[in-house]
Amino acid sequence: SSQEAVTVIGLGAMGSTMASTFVAAGHPTTVWNRTPGKAAGLGATEAATAAEAVAASELVVISQVDYAAMFESLADADLNGRVLVNLSSDSPEKLREASRWVAERGGTLVTAGIMVPPPGIGKPGAYIFFAGPEEAVTAHKPALEALGRVDHMGTDPGLAMLYYQAMLNIFWTTLISYFYSASLVGSAERLQPYAATMLSDLTEDGPMGFLRISTAAIEAGEHPGAENNLHMQAVGAEHVVQAFAESGLDVTVPGAVAELFARADEAGYGADGLTALVEMVRKPR
Ligand code: NDP
Repeated sequence: SSQEAVTVIGLGAMGSTMASTFVAAGHPTTVWNRTPGKAAGLGATEAATAAEAVAASELVVISQVDYAAMFESLADADLNGRVLVNLSSDSPEKLREASRWVAERGGTLVTAGIMVPPPGIGKPGAYIFFAGPEEAVTAHKPALEALGRVDHMGTDPGLAMLYYQAMLNIFWTTLISYFYSASLVGSAERLQPYAATMLSDLTEDGPMGFLRISTAAIEAGEHPGAENNLHMQAVGAEHVVQAFAESGLDVTVPGAVAELFARADEAGYGADGLTALVEMVRKPR
């Protein structure tokens, strides 16, 4: 085969799909998973040990629950000359620690955050945040592109997870807000078209295009509030909490939003606009 050899460590939902994607793209693929027997049907070669799997390919792609799993799995592996690309979740500081851990053992760590669920791997629109040495990313880009678009965010190993977590935070809070609101009206089906219109309006150019409007305000450090001031919204956010409470529903998320508003109002941002909330984010209690 003209495609480079790849080793995949970790055969959970993500790792097993990555392995079969590499196989389909013509890469000689070796796999290893802590619990054996997960390689069946992937079309890859199952190594008996993690050390053997690492020895099989210069490029070692890792997808496990966290980085502690890598420390445990590769403790006895020879990492000399190996490029480890870890797509597992952990904190940015843990990724920096892991980068030193791999370097001490003669290898190179590229950290990564993959922005699609298993069925999206290798499909149009899939992309992955990478961080670490530019040369290592560039050298293995053709293989890594089998999984999705390669976005190299910088050399600080923490950056892959920083961007991944930034996006995950938007994903979770947006959907969770929808779950709350669907519970409030009692019908997800009835709310769905309104929610869909709002979400698309947010990203457009019109008067509801708050993604663009907020970006400009945050970058300028100016929070104009003449048309919808923060005090008015703090009062409104308290009414949202009351609406959930009156319906006998949980108020954790709307309550946290109302609390953030109240703190901003108390801190003197009442006449400013919504983006003044970034000042609360930057100054945790
Ligand atoms: P799974 O729960 O399906 O798989 C977890 C994998 O981690 C298994 O292979 C498991 O091995 C392995 N593992 C756990 N602990 C250890 C350990 N101590 N030593 C060795 N191996 C260990 O998770 P996913 O495949 O869904 O996710 C993998 C990573 O990808 C996670 O970090 C996740 O946050 C991230 N991710 C997942 C997405 C998704 O939609 N699923 C999307 C984007 C990122 P074993 O079989 O032996 O238990």
